[in-house]
Amino acid sequence: MTSCIFCQIVAGTAKAEIVYQDELVTAFRDIHPAAPIHLLIVPNRHIESVNFVGAEEEATAGRLFGVARQLAAERGIASDGYRLVVNTNHHGGQTVFHLHLHLLGGRSLRAMG
Ligand code: AMP
Repeated sequence: MTSCIFCQIVAGTAKAEIVYQDELVTAFRDIHPAAPIHLLIVPNRHIESVNFVGAEEEATAGRLFGVARQLAAERGIASDGYRLVVNTNHHGGQTVFHLHLHLLGGRSLRAMG
């Protein structure tokens, strides 16, 4: 989807600090980090939200978690812990309508709500 900022980042036509990319998913730094480590992991294919994750998306959905685990381990936050967040639609606080997994860590997030 050419108007979608995350599709543009995946395609390389919009700037982002990409930290991981494979045939299914891309991970990059959030421009407004809410924690010392704040990465977004997104499917390469445009999926609007969790509401549009069908059975055919199972491999991609699994990969989002696998890459989150890998990035957390590489950044040394796996044992201290981290938070994975997926906001969905208005009540969930979703602002970019391309499915994304927030990976937050590097400090205690217990006070974050
Ligand atoms: P959400 O509120 O769950 O939809 O999260 C959207 C996230 O995308 C926010 O944390 C934004 O800071 C982040 N974001 C929006 N535009 C960009 C961008 N161009 N590059 C990196 N992160 C972005």
